[in-house]
Amino acid sequence: MIDIENILGKSFECECGKTHTIPTKYLLYDDDAILKVPEILASEAAGKSIGLFADVRTYEIAGKDVESKLVADGFSVQTIIVPDPPEGTPVCDDKTQAKVAAQLRSVDAIVAVGSGVINDLSKWTAFDRNIPYMCFATAASMNGYTAANVASIINGLKTIVYARAPIAVVAKPAIIENAPYKMTASGLGDVLAKPVSTADWVMNNFLFDEYFCDRCTQMISKIEPKYFEHPQEVKTRKPEAIKALYEALIYSGIAMTMAGTSAPASGGEHMLSHTLDMMWLVDGVEHDMHGRQVGLGTIFASALYEKILTIDTPACVDAPSAIDRKFWGRLAGTVEEQYNLKNPHLEIMKRKLSDINNWRQFKSVIKPRVRKPADIKNCLKLADAAHRVADIVCSYERVLQAALHMHEIRKRCTVVDLAYVLGIMPTVAEEIINEWLM
Ligand SMILES: [Zn+2]
Ligand SMILES: [Zn+2]
Repeated sequence: MIDIENILGKSFECECGKTHTIPTKYLLYDDDAILKVPEILASEAAGKSIGLFADVRTYEIAGKDVESKLVADGFSVQTIIVPDPPEGTPVCDDKTQAKVAAQLRSVDAIVAVGSGVINDLSKWTAFDRNIPYMCFATAASMNGYTAANVASIINGLKTIVYARAPIAVVAKPAIIENAPYKMTASGLGDVLAKPVSTADWVMNNFLFDEYFCDRCTQMISKIEPKYFEHPQEVKTRKPEAIKALYEALIYSGIAMTMAGTSAPASGGEHMLSHTLDMMWLVDGVEHDMHGRQVGLGTIFASALYEKILTIDTPACVDAPSAIDRKFWGRLAGTVEEQYNLKNPHLEIMKRKLSDINNWRQFKSVIKPRVRKPADIKNCLKLADAAHRVADIVCSYERVLQAALHMHEIRKRCTVVDLAYVLGIMPTVAEEIINEWLM
């Protein structure tokens, strides 16, 4: 276990061979969080001019209080309220970012008051300007707060923008506890991905010698039982359970920053969600919140692992050699590029796992990392989080199509590719959806 407090803002050498650096210096979950914002900025920003980003909701909930506290402490604050598009809430894309960046005058630091999108727009803008930013978090909805990257859409394509992690993430428990429940339940879906993402990371290490750090996978082990074993307490917004969920999201973002990859928190289970988002980019049919889709993806991927672990003697086959260009429309080129990069790994996977000794060893390293699909589903269900196709805005057909195409979108191998090499995908896709997601 890593004692998080001792590594904040520091670099340290790890048994994995890497020197991990955590740029985030302050993590506060405190009733007085608003009062701490000026203190942090006074020591971290070069001057007293601050940009504050919020949306209409988060400005009401916390933004205006943060703003008045900063003004009272002698800061000059330019508040930018990111407007809602005609439908829904703001998105993090190149157009929105360019708009807020053009509005923002010369400031010494940015404070993001909000969750996913507001945090990403702030991170992106602060990185472009080479100034520090901090986040005042308003919901336990996703694990991107402490991550270095920005999940954005550029020219209509989902893209990762490499940026920098915040200097601080602060939150007031009452605000996080009372956030719209859909957001909290979405955060639960995102953090439950961990056993699958960890197993996938172990798989990449086992098969391709990919970099792996077990410390990064252990960061939330201690707090996991507080929500995983007590999902009803998340539902009833019990402070201890919400705090554990919030911290798990914060720490899994830090694990990604430490590892320099999303591997500690994102594997095959995330592909279902990313694919549904990409399908929206192709045909404009709406998708649901990230963590809600990830919850379903995690049940699906855990069901795949469960089936895979029952195989005694694998009969490995060739994974599909090409993507479905017609399905991907204008995204076909980008998707194909990723899949082509994966192809050599699929060959290695097939060759290595055809050896029965490798297969047995592989199963023994994966088994302790995964959880049963029934346990994941039960946790989501008891927490009143999305756990069936009917719970999200996407149709059965759409979820099935996503399941059948999700192996195509990333160069990194996941349990989904493994299932193709073992010859159980695509056949089991429909079966798993019918058994687990209905
Ligand atoms: Zn390490
Ligand atoms: Zn996620």
